[in-house]
Amino acid sequence: MEDQLKLMIPGPTQVPQTALQALARQPISHRSSEFSAVMAEVTENLQWLHQTQNDVLLLAGSGTAAMEAGIINFLSPGDRVIVGTNGKFGDRWAELCKIFGLEVETIAAEWGKPLIAAEFATKLEADTQKQIKAVIITHSETSTGVINDLETISHHIKNHGKALSIIDAVTSLGSVNVPVDSWGLDVVVSGSQKGYMVPPGLGIVAVSAKAWEAYKTAKFPKYYLDLEKYRLATINNTSPFTPPVNLIVALQTTLRMMQQEGLEAIFARHLRVMKATRAAIRSLNLSLFAQDDYASPAVTAVSTSELEADKIREVVKKRFDMEIAGGQDHLKNKIFRIGHLGFICDRDILTCISALEAALLELAYQDFSLGAGIAAAIKVFQTQI
Ligand SMILES: *Cc1c(COP(=O)(O)O)cnc(C)c1O
Repeated sequence: MEDQLKLMIPGPTQVPQTALQALARQPISHRSSEFSAVMAEVTENLQWLHQTQNDVLLLAGSGTAAMEAGIINFLSPGDRVIVGTNGKFGDRWAELCKIFGLEVETIAAEWGKPLIAAEFATKLEADTQKQIKAVIITHSETSTGVINDLETISHHIKNHGKALSIIDAVTSLGSVNVPVDSWGLDVVVSGSQKGYMVPPGLGIVAVSAKAWEAYKTAKFPKYYLDLEKYRLATINNTSPFTPPVNLIVALQTTLRMMQQEGLEAIFARHLRVMKATRAAIRSLNLSLFAQDDYASPAVTAVSTSELEADKIREVVKKRFDMEIAGGQDHLKNKIFRIGHLGFICDRDILTCISALEAALLELAYQDFSLGAGIAAAIKVFQTQI
């Protein structure tokens, strides 16, 4: 039943049929007028999704390539940066910055808790010499299911005046509001396999005018990830190197789907599936790893105190051919994560909760009554049409 595999993980996410068909076509030449038309449309629709007039550039690589590009194009060795860390991806940013020899200060919160915006304000206000070159924030921390208060933190960064905001929006773009221009976000990175509903392989970077100013004096060597090359090519509706043309054609189809649905409807759908998932988890007497007021609409993490999370995942996989994600680092086997972003609908949640309940029954978990999770999810769907 391999072809039945259902992904309920926070990336790669499920891919709609139209995008799969685009992937199955012969590649087109990246120097053809057909490809230029695709690039023009994709670029415009990416700007729409980011709610920005800034350049939005496509790279061949996963989200981490976009992260690296976001650092090496706008900073120089020894630059002082602040990195918010409250999970695996915040940690990855800190590690990446250290590897490149930046002077890294972290503002940390416990995994499962949000970053405190006021701590950023304090640090930024204290920097009267304007030595902080960038503040790096993971908007939706995929490892814990926490959404950070990017709106408030980006406001503090703007007040500083000098520092760039470098934002990981990998699991927020396409599922929650990320208004790049109105929040003044300078560098925003994302990846095709999350909210974009396309397989892995494209990194996306949005770059503000302020970031391009910083580019002029940035000193890291770069070639393949030199974003100026991508900016110039994108103006001419092409790509500096051979791009993954099929992925870009697939992205054209999913961006059209998103446009048809509309931003508000997309955000509302993600909120609805999040609420239903959380209501179900509560009704099963399992604990939600993140509290309601900072829960990510993209992913729900569940602590499984006496049960082994990986056992639950194993049963769900074996019996139902459905994949839910495990915990990372010290949370391995302690939590599981339900990805509900991208090509996701109410039915997917009902299926997933059913599979979860069946697994709990099979593992002789005592503390729930069969059907309670499904009932709770259905009630949410009933009131949130
Ligand atoms: C998936 C993800 C990334 C990028 O990871 P890749 O595996 O390189 O695509 C970065 N940040 C967050 C928050 C993510 O969820």
